[in-house]
Amino acid sequence: MELKKLYDYLNAQAFGGELVPPLLFAAHVITDAKGKNRLAGWADDGRLAVRVDLLPYPLLVADLLIHEMVHQAVGSKFDHGPVFTQRAGVVARRMGLPTPGVDGSCWPMEGRPVGFYGPGVVYEREEAS
Ligand SMILES: [Zn+2]
Repeated sequence: MELKKLYDYLNAQAFGGELVPPLLFAAHVITDAKGKNRLAGWADDGRLAVRVDLLPYPLLVADLLIHEMVHQAVGSKFDHGPVFTQRAGVVARRMGLPTPGVDGSCWPMEGRPVGFYGPGVVYEREEAS
């Protein structure tokens, strides 16, 4: 899957083309500001990464990408709180995605039924650190 094509599609469909295309790449290891390993990540300097070993799972990549694109749209300072979940809700309604809960940290992945991402692919919420 070509990340750039998917990004451009989601930007047009879910964000009305408002997002400035980031430096988009796949990486073997993605860590957040606290050094914790992540499946994908957005940095406000304009980088968006998805873990390279997930590329064979396009539905998961699309969900991770749209999650990070909401971070991009609102800015990472809002983390997964009300500003994030409000914007995620707008995207969810527009795109037919699961509705975000109070904590948007696993949106939209945790709203997907078991098996959605393919046989043997299980998405589980990580314990809060
Ligand atoms: Zn997030």
